[in-house]
Amino acid sequence: MDEFIWPDEIEILENAGQRRNCLRCGVECVIAATANRTARPVQHAADEGYCVSCVITQFLKVEMPIEELLPSGATVAEALRLPHVRRQFQAVFAAGRSDTSESQVDWERVIANWDLPVGKPKGRKRRK
Ligand SMILES: [Zn+2]
Repeated sequence: MDEFIWPDEIEILENAGQRRNCLRCGVECVIAATANRTARPVQHAADEGYCVSCVITQFLKVEMPIEELLPSGATVAEALRLPHVRRQFQAVFAAGRSDTSESQVDWERVIANWDLPVGKPKGRKRRK
């Protein structure tokens, strides 16, 4: 069954299909056709932004700092390799009607790029 979504929440992205590099890690991404502007924690970017793995990294460093939640001696890499930790993201993505799913996250890239700086990604340019 389709989800019920208010039409004005969906933005048609003018640059759909064009390629951009992630502003944080540089991986090549494709601009999606649409974005749900109420989706959390991940929305498709209109022009430039972060790849989904870098968005999750930012979420885990800034919005829900995972390092503060770890037991003593545990590492971020160990935590992000645990299936039950990843499954929690499936629920977060579903509850926020995100534009993507946990299965799109490259967790090994999240771990490999963990120490790259995070900032506020651009790409949430709104339709006028
Ligand atoms: Zn990235």
